[in-house]
Amino acid sequence: MAIDPHYEMVIGLEVHAQMLTRSKLFCGCPTRFGAGANRQICPVCAAFPGVLPVLNHEAVDMAIKTGLAIEGRINRLSEFSRKNYFYPDLPAGYQISQYELPLVEQGGIWIDTDAGSRKRIGITRIHIEVDAGKSLHEGIVGASWVDLNRTGIPLMEVVSEPDLRSAAEAGEYLKRLRAMVRYLGVCDGNMEEGSLRCDANVSVRRHGDSRLGTRCELKNLNSIRHVMRAIEYEAERQIDLLESGQTIRQETRLWDVNQGLTRSMRGKEEAHDYRYFPEPDLPPLRLSEERIESLRQQLPELPEARCRRFMSQYSLSDYDAAVLTASRDVADYYEQVAGAVASAKMAANWVTGELLAWFNDDPDQTKRSIPALHLARLLQMIQNGVISGKIAKDVLARMYTSAQTAEAIVEQLGLQQMTDTAAIEAAVQAVLQASPDELSRYRAGQTKLLAFFVGQVMKATRGKANPTQVNELLQRYLAG
Ligand SMILES: [Zn+2]
Repeated sequence: MAIDPHYEMVIGLEVHAQMLTRSKLFCGCPTRFGAGANRQICPVCAAFPGVLPVLNHEAVDMAIKTGLAIEGRINRLSEFSRKNYFYPDLPAGYQISQYELPLVEQGGIWIDTDAGSRKRIGITRIHIEVDAGKSLHEGIVGASWVDLNRTGIPLMEVVSEPDLRSAAEAGEYLKRLRAMVRYLGVCDGNMEEGSLRCDANVSVRRHGDSRLGTRCELKNLNSIRHVMRAIEYEAERQIDLLESGQTIRQETRLWDVNQGLTRSMRGKEEAHDYRYFPEPDLPPLRLSEERIESLRQQLPELPEARCRRFMSQYSLSDYDAAVLTASRDVADYYEQVAGAVASAKMAANWVTGELLAWFNDDPDQTKRSIPALHLARLLQMIQNGVISGKIAKDVLARMYTSAQTAEAIVEQLGLQQMTDTAAIEAAVQAVLQASPDELSRYRAGQTKLLAFFVGQVMKATRGKANPTQVNELLQRYLAG
């Protein structure tokens, strides 16, 4: 879908990533997902009078690593602030966050644009903050319940510059950011479970206009696809308003997944509405050079670098290398397969083609996928001429459903390629005898019929004849 060509979109994203620490940001409560309501809370979580927060340094390290990976500036001195607001799921009446002095500033992530070029999307800041609790309304009459398990869960908020110009760019940026936090092992990147959440600030303006339009903040975007759809819808809505002479109200809008539209939720609050002030219970956060250097040393190979290495080490196209390195799991998987077979290119074709197609058709497949070394064994069987590539696809499909190895399936179903020349020769002769018309037309010059004969022989041998041998034998017999 394209918007009115006289306009351009201006988009900035705010991403909340739940950090994979074992305990919460300011107390020792566990962070496991799915515990019974209020089973993972303590007096700090419930904001009893007199409790004091104690900073979890594992979370700080994770946010620093992310800051280093986006080539941001790590502030040697940052501070925590109170963001004050009233809500039933926030017993303290404030959220501990970072405001004037965040941990990281001025980073960026490179994306590929629609036009095929590369573009750096600026990252204004990354700061650390706690999550709030959850109000429960469903199935409860005459009351609302509050679950504080999420209270105090460590989040980092990654705020981009308004550098994105289309829904596709926003999707691309999110994919890169998600791949990055997964590579770093600081967040599982799961948008459905809410461990990666994205709000989008969207405005539109006429091309050539240097002023920014009034923006709306979109919430409830729990997949990359929804982020993109909501942005498209919102930009259209704003353009329609402007074209009909109306103005845009700055507000927060909720994406309605079922109806495919955004609805007004509340007027947008300004920063001063929150009465931010430095958190009196926590000292400023000072970082030593040694700590930052040691975290820099611990950074894994990141997606960009790994993509370039795949291109040189395995002679892959930039497309294949990008697909394979988009996720650390897939990249690790590919390297295991490629290390065990003779052709790294063949391994890439199978992983990007067959496997990812399976994963995409049914996301749960990733959970019971085929071990890399089992796929490698299947590919070795093709390379050794035991089975054809076509049969291998059937075997792979059975490997998914039966959890058996390739060898066991090939053995059980008798799928080994026929390499017995005499047997193939018999099939060739039988086909020629059964098709006298085609045979005389071939001999009269219609050599295109070779494909017909090959097809007939493969059919007669149920796909198991070695195609090269079939071709050779046929050409000899057809020559008469
Ligand atoms: Zn607690």
